[in-house]
Amino acid sequence: MKVTVVGTGYVGLVSGACLADVGNDVLCLDVDPNKIRILEEGGIPIHEPGLLDVVRRNVEAGRLSFTTDVEKAARFGTIQFIAVGTPPDEDGSADLQYVLAAARNIGRYMDDYRVVVDKSTVPVGTGDKVRAAITEELGKRKAAIEFSVVSNPEFLKEGAAVDDFMRPDRIIVGADDERAIDLMRQLYGPFQRNHEKLLAMDVKSAELTKYAANAMLATRISFMNELANLAETLGADIELVRQGIGSDPRIGWHFLYAGCGYGGSCFPKDVKALVRTGRESGHDLLLLNAVEAANDAQKMLLVRKIVARFGEDLSGLHFGLWGLAFKPNTDDMRDAPSRVIIRELFERGATVTAYDPVAMDEAKRIFGDEPRLRYAQRPMAAVEGADALVIVTEWKEFRSPDFDAICQTLKSAVIFDGRNMYDPAVMRRIGIEYHGIGRR
Ligand code: NAD
Repeated sequence: MKVTVVGTGYVGLVSGACLADVGNDVLCLDVDPNKIRILEEGGIPIHEPGLLDVVRRNVEAGRLSFTTDVEKAARFGTIQFIAVGTPPDEDGSADLQYVLAAARNIGRYMDDYRVVVDKSTVPVGTGDKVRAAITEELGKRKAAIEFSVVSNPEFLKEGAAVDDFMRPDRIIVGADDERAIDLMRQLYGPFQRNHEKLLAMDVKSAELTKYAANAMLATRISFMNELANLAETLGADIELVRQGIGSDPRIGWHFLYAGCGYGGSCFPKDVKALVRTGRESGHDLLLLNAVEAANDAQKMLLVRKIVARFGEDLSGLHFGLWGLAFKPNTDDMRDAPSRVIIRELFERGATVTAYDPVAMDEAKRIFGDEPRLRYAQRPMAAVEGADALVIVTEWKEFRSPDFDAICQTLKSAVIFDGRNMYDPAVMRRIGIEYHGIGRR
């Protein structure tokens, strides 16, 4: 099938490359000429494990190409995926300007039947807005061309995106006409060879499903974070509590880790947008308001622990920081707790040397020429001369560091661990003053 993907970010590029990998002809469009240049030169503009190989393989096979030409893109694919960003607006609602611009471009140039698929995470009712935008553009040029609008939210996880796309748990397709559903079934056939994974439903239910999934996961995290803070005060250990409840199949193991707050491009903005949708339709979503507030507070927790240990005035103090990305295996720092922690440390007069295996370029882009922030090429180099080590992202390479070397390198052997990577008893034995989240 011929497929156009609009937007070559984490979702668009992964979707485009994986759809090409099963034999489709895919054209990826982006308005950012820099991204398209990198792709045309054989690179990829993001860090995503395994993605470069899939992209290269399909470019070489002639099934995957890139463009900034909106007309060419609209005329290419029968199926037109919209996978552009939907960042939060000032009021927390999803900003639809990029989605609607993409829809208008399709309407402006399409020359035959098109299935326009919203893959971006969009509020309930966006399908109607996309339909109206395309209809308006077709009207302007007096063209009577049929099209369908489909909601096909994406559930991939950054860091495991290729695998998630290739082996999805479920494929949600919201559509109001059979022709579109049939084409989507054909397109996704190769991804559900073992058993049917495609769940067809109406557009609005599909749109809401995506928000429901992210809001549920965010809720689990905030719930565990609140319990961790309580456990710490009561002298209980959240790790033991986690094991005690995760073994109940009704609860399960996933998303039960306490930490220094969730970040990333999805949970914070999607919870906000759902709260906003609720408010606009007369439903104050009390639970999700609390989930968000709890997370905002949790992002400050490590700072509060640092202040409790070193005092409010941190001038003259220097911190080593491991992990900038919002989670391991990605360079994405959107809404990452590291950003809050670094800024709060600066505000109190401290300086920071950070190490992250892949997100340091992104941090340089965000923090610019900030003289209070330096970067280390190795984890141990970030610790040198620091008053304490702060761990923000649970990269695998931080799991078993040389603790003796850390003790010798730090000015004082203090670790603030925002991801509960180490055993407090072991830390005590080694002589490290260890501050975890909700640990005994
Ligand atoms: P992103 O910011 O990485 O990529 C979006 C891309 O769209 C950018 O490259 C931008 O230049 C391009 N773009 C913007 N307007 C355009 C236009 N009119 N025409 C062509 N290109 C345009 O975003 P992302 O992380 O891939 O997320 C995209 C959507 O998918 C969002 O709605 C997000 O909530 C959702 N989503 C993201 C993830 C994730 O893990 N990142 C997972 C599931 C769903």
